[in-house]
Amino acid sequence: MRYFPAFLDLKDRPCLVVGGGAPAARKARLLVKAGARVTVVAPSAGPEAEDLAAQGALRLVRREFVAGDVGGRAAVVSATGLGEVDTRVAEAARAAGVPVNVVDRPGLSSFVVPAIVERGPVVIGISSGGTSPVLARRLRARIEALLPARLGRLARFAESFRASVRAVIPEPAQRQRFWTRIFDGAVAEDVLAGREAAARERMLGLVNRPGAADGGEGPGGVVHIVGAGPGDPDLLTLKALRLMERAEVVVYDRLVAPEILDYLRRDAERVYVGKAKGAHAKTQDQINALLCARARAGQRVLRLKGGDPFVFGRGGEELEYLRRHGVRVEVVPGVTAATACAAALGIPLTHRDHASAVTLVTGHGRDGEPDLDWAALAGPRQTLAIYMGVGAAGRIAARLIAQGLAPATPVAVIENATMTDQKTAAGALRDLEALVRDNGITGPALIIIGEVARRAAAEALAEPSRALAV
Ligand code: SAH
Repeated sequence: MRYFPAFLDLKDRPCLVVGGGAPAARKARLLVKAGARVTVVAPSAGPEAEDLAAQGALRLVRREFVAGDVGGRAAVVSATGLGEVDTRVAEAARAAGVPVNVVDRPGLSSFVVPAIVERGPVVIGISSGGTSPVLARRLRARIEALLPARLGRLARFAESFRASVRAVIPEPAQRQRFWTRIFDGAVAEDVLAGREAAARERMLGLVNRPGAADGGEGPGGVVHIVGAGPGDPDLLTLKALRLMERAEVVVYDRLVAPEILDYLRRDAERVYVGKAKGAHAKTQDQINALLCARARAGQRVLRLKGGDPFVFGRGGEELEYLRRHGVRVEVVPGVTAATACAAALGIPLTHRDHASAVTLVTGHGRDGEPDLDWAALAGPRQTLAIYMGVGAAGRIAARLIAQGLAPATPVAVIENATMTDQKTAAGALRDLEALVRDNGITGPALIIIGEVARRAAAEALAEPSRALAV
């Protein structure tokens, strides 16, 4: 370790920043955030420093630096970008025994400023010991993605209970166990999900319950019903990713791409409930019972579904069942096929001139025959995004045309959107069945019907012999 890590208390302490440019302003802003009384010395200042001065956040002194400026400061930062001035600042500070940081010049600095991840009072500093600031920033981005946005609120929440927990559980080791369970359990989850009132109520119950000193939360299983998006792992939400790293059991189906499963915790148990070749898929009742049993056994269960769990995903039925059985359950949305496919095709689902509504429909009915209000779907100025429709593509087109939708209406079909084997085709509604057949599209694929698909259709017609590579 090249540097000693520490956090300085600069509240109400006088600090000096030398330089008026953007790097100086960035450091000044950080010092202001830490509660320091900041003076910026520079012959001229850029807009950021001027703004901070105008807001009264710092004092701007418009002149050259003189050695006397460092006197009485708790910390000095030099960010002039001028080697000669930076050196003078560093020398003056060292002579006066004041800690100094020169931006991008560790050799002149007595302290370095780490890359930081901040969640309210929780701050993580990352330093590469001066070897590579870019590496430190890359790490910062990764940690940023790992930490829930409301972590700061959780810290403050815990702080508000510190005294009462100490009173109820005087023994330190026991108290530590209590807090560990709180941070791993329902209370923390509620705070992180923004349900602070519920968390407070739960917490009060735990603190007041006789015997809380031995306990914490007790076994508390939970089911997270999470959308895994259309396939590309980059389209997972940060929340999905965090839950994937913590789940003990993962219950997933066919639409969840194998690349996504790579992001699961290595030792998580994986339960596949989709259809396998030659075997039956688990029924919805079996899946419900499985989720319920695992959560009741105290496990953290991740119910992972393709796209969004509440769009043709039966997530609603699972939620209802689990709630009815008193199991704690939370739903996390995912990028649904309609929006993912539209983005992959480069066509909007709504358009000021052509589509003031978008309808998500299933092309799959009870007997294979979709049971839909065809007259409404054939209406003007709307986009249809048809899930599970490739098998019935011909019938869907015929019904819409019979209800008056123009046979020349543009359509686009996209299979395995956002994955490496994505395939697209486009043309006119009257040719929908042929488009699907001739391009060998077997699903999972989405059909988009409406004026917005014209651009995709035009590109396809320019190269009629092959499916579009988008
Ligand atoms: N809950 C999912 C939909 C499940 S129904 C969601 O929100 O996306 C399954 C149908 O979704 C498939 O038949 C197909 O129509 C569509 N679908 C899902 N992922 C897709 C993808 N990557 N590309 C194209 N269509 C997809």
